[in-house]
Amino acid sequence: MYSELDETKPAQLLIETNSAISAFDTTHAAEANFNKAVDECKGVLCFLWAATKKLVDPLQISASPDNVELTNWSKRRHTECIMSEAPAVSTASAAMDAEAAQALATSITAQTAFMENQQKKLDTTISERKNKFEKLSDSTQNLILNASSTNGEVTLGTPSKHCTEFYTKATVGQARQYLHDTICTEFSTMFDCQLGTVTALFSGLFMWDRDDTPSNFSFFSFPKIQPLSGNADKQAMVLHMKVSHGKGWSDTDAEEALKQGVKAPDTIESLGHQVNNTRGAAAFFFGIHSILVTKLEKVKVCIAKNTRRLESFQVRDKTFSSKIGYAIDCRIHRWLGECRMATDREQVNDSIIDFNILMEAILTDSFTQSLPVTLRLVTDKRKVDEDADDNARRRKKGKNDKEAPDSRKVDNEEKIPEWIFSHEEYQAKVAGKFTKRRPDFKGKAMCPRFHSKGYCFNDCSNKVSHVHSKSLPSGTKKDYEKFVKVCKGE
Ligand SMILES: [Zn+2]
Repeated sequence: MYSELDETKPAQLLIETNSAISAFDTTHAAEANFNKAVDECKGVLCFLWAATKKLVDPLQISASPDNVELTNWSKRRHTECIMSEAPAVSTASAAMDAEAAQALATSITAQTAFMENQQKKLDTTISERKNKFEKLSDSTQNLILNASSTNGEVTLGTPSKHCTEFYTKATVGQARQYLHDTICTEFSTMFDCQLGTVTALFSGLFMWDRDDTPSNFSFFSFPKIQPLSGNADKQAMVLHMKVSHGKGWSDTDAEEALKQGVKAPDTIESLGHQVNNTRGAAAFFFGIHSILVTKLEKVKVCIAKNTRRLESFQVRDKTFSSKIGYAIDCRIHRWLGECRMATDREQVNDSIIDFNILMEAILTDSFTQSLPVTLRLVTDKRKVDEDADDNARRRKKGKNDKEAPDSRKVDNEEKIPEWIFSHEEYQAKVAGKFTKRRPDFKGKAMCPRFHSKGYCFNDCSNKVSHVHSKSLPSGTKKDYEKFVKVCKGE
């Protein structure tokens, strides 16, 4: 019926639906115990009417129909949406709404159409049983290697040891266990390694699925561990057993595995935890010396130092810590996007994750941030007493963690002055430019950083050409001279 309607007249759909409902009632009027469709379908009509008036925001939430309280809340909410003025809400019902919203928040599974694709990918992953880092898509490998760069100049040749190990695991359950054990023992963090998140990362998905919904490698995917949340462990075990016994996954298992609980911090204390957790996750996947890890470390220290001031803002605005989290996450997401695309590490703009400006705006009370709809509903009412010892330890550790000088740097001791560019010029004219015109040397492209910046690093993929410029064979010198001219636009 709907396919025959004129799409330009949404109200027609409402009228047609209404007559269909009335017709149904007339046909079945004689039956005993008959619930009138007009009553049962009120919600549908409300929704259609609101949709024609463009009052419905897109929202990706599914609620369990078995939850009576939630269903009632949903009905009431739909009715309220189409009232011209906001109804006066009594405190009692506001409390109930909060309760229902809580139930809704916990059942948010960030389900998007994308998830279906993910499920297919997962099935393939599991059936192959071999999920090495090299088997990830090129763009994911690129993302991880660029994000693992310790200086913003060189793409690492291999991922960090933990990342490599993670991808050798045969099942998501084992990968999750490994992630969990490593972050606890090595990075002194402990987060809820949610199966959905681990599944996504295991399949090589780091970027958000949708531009308005944080997921996968996200600040919101690494919430503070909650008491009595052994559930995920159990799930992982069950799934692992099913997989290792060769029975494969049922649809429900896959669905379960794909749920990603999105948790937003609601206190400054939990904000600090989540920043630290994200730092731990970054250290795990991109190595402890990744730029992202260093930057998040600074945010963590900054939050710890200014806890009181931040708490006073939190009192004023309950979503304050979520907003900070979202601001941080947007930047990480954008930076990962650049890491994924960059063919040369120097193309990645690392100033995106320089959180100093953000922290400054926050502390000077000039910070504004809106939250996406999907996050507005997410709150976590379970509070845990602050672990004073843990906090003190983290602050102390923050002080001692200094950036180590780069021992991998190699200098070109016989530079040719005509070939050298200033830092700015190099960024603008050489980095990532004319890559096809770089002359070859011993089967590899000549390293422009070594010859036109004057230094490089010993893990550079073109290090065979790290020969002092003046000692190069004369033919090579001529070829490189041509390349320098091309870069200078001569
Ligand atoms: Zn080099």
